[in-house]
Amino acid sequence: MLTVAELFATDTLITAEEREIRDTVAAFTDRRIRPYIAEWFETGSFPVREIAPELGKMGVLGMHLEGYGCAGLPATAYGLACQELEAADSGLRSLVSVQGSLAMTAIHKYGSEEQKNHWLPDMAAGRTLGCFGLTEPDFGSDPGGMRTRARRDGDDWVLNGSKMWITNGSIADIAVVWAKVDVNGKDLVRGFLVPAGTPGFTTREMTRKLSLRASITAELTLADVRLPASAVLPGAEGLSGPLSCLSEARFGIIFGALGAARDCLRATIEYSRTREVFDKPLAAYQLTQAKLADMALELGKGQLLALHLSRLKDRGELTPEQVSAGKLNSTREAIAIARECRTILGANGITLDYPVLRHANNLESVLTYEGTAEVHQLVLGKALTGASAFR
Ligand code: FAD
Repeated sequence: MLTVAELFATDTLITAEEREIRDTVAAFTDRRIRPYIAEWFETGSFPVREIAPELGKMGVLGMHLEGYGCAGLPATAYGLACQELEAADSGLRSLVSVQGSLAMTAIHKYGSEEQKNHWLPDMAAGRTLGCFGLTEPDFGSDPGGMRTRARRDGDDWVLNGSKMWITNGSIADIAVVWAKVDVNGKDLVRGFLVPAGTPGFTTREMTRKLSLRASITAELTLADVRLPASAVLPGAEGLSGPLSCLSEARFGIIFGALGAARDCLRATIEYSRTREVFDKPLAAYQLTQAKLADMALELGKGQLLALHLSRLKDRGELTPEQVSAGKLNSTREAIAIARECRTILGANGITLDYPVLRHANNLESVLTYEGTAEVHQLVLGKALTGASAFR
């Protein structure tokens, strides 16, 4: 029997070092995540404080960043790590994405030397947790409409507003908060580092989620939050600041979502070989095989595309449109695979005894955050036609 990786010979496209990193992350998830993930998902919890230092030790937090205690590894290695993390659970990959690709990337790209030295080494080690506050209750796909504002008061900044759906928002030590400032009568988006416990800064964990349950999501409220002049990220001016961080996180999702799909397909093939219906294994029916073959094709094609895009990124040639194409393809195909796998598992597929519906439910969030599927269709539509259809 062949795995999808063997069918497409994808291992021949990665180096021995990349394979070693991938296998290290896979072994970690086998030991530290898989035995417990169903329970964490069921109870809507995740021991972030316990797991983050272990992720730090493995070098996956800010893995693609150079210096300041970060591993400085190529994009392909980071992508393969994301694939293994998300094969365990999208919540785990979200933790790594938010910490490394969003919060740490914002500081690494746009922070002062002092900010980088102060925050990044502890964040890379998983001792300090970050979150990334862009989305607001009324502005998700259109973050440029944000209402959170920062005004100058002497040397200080004073922030007011609210952020919603912020991963790790209620447990983070440092929040990267994006807010509008007035520059000569014009609004400009700037990034601010808001330490937990700053007076006026409160958070509330969002509950009753049916997706990404093994991940903490929170609302942030900023009521006259006074910050020193040094809290602003000096290098980020305009919406391109947060958007460039999102592009980094989307890249991880291109690989990550396919990890969830791979795990669904693995569990489903295993199940179909032992489950007997009408006196023979489910796997021996043509209808089942057609489904499995089609899913293997989409998974393999997605993985080839992901590897192609990561090589472009390693060469510094990856464009935002290509990231959109990868994010759209991976999330859309992954959720389709997860749902199709669920049909093969029948009633068993709706339980947490199998990973399939957990992954499918998680992928609802993955399809939506970091730019919805529709937003990425619009990005591609604009690139193909030259006409912007966002408004
Ligand atoms: P909306 O923008 O209201 O979109 C609703 C629907 O309208 C979607 O189908 C969308 O595709 C569609 N739509 C939007 N614009 C158009 C258009 N022009 N044409 C056609 N259709 C359109 N945000 C953060 O800042 N930090 C985080 O850490 C974070 N973590 C998250 C974790 C989870 C579990 C979730 C679910 C979300 C998280 N988000 C985070 C927020 C996420 O980025 C937003 O949910 C996402 O950007 C979509 O915004 P929205 O939910 O407001 O949907």
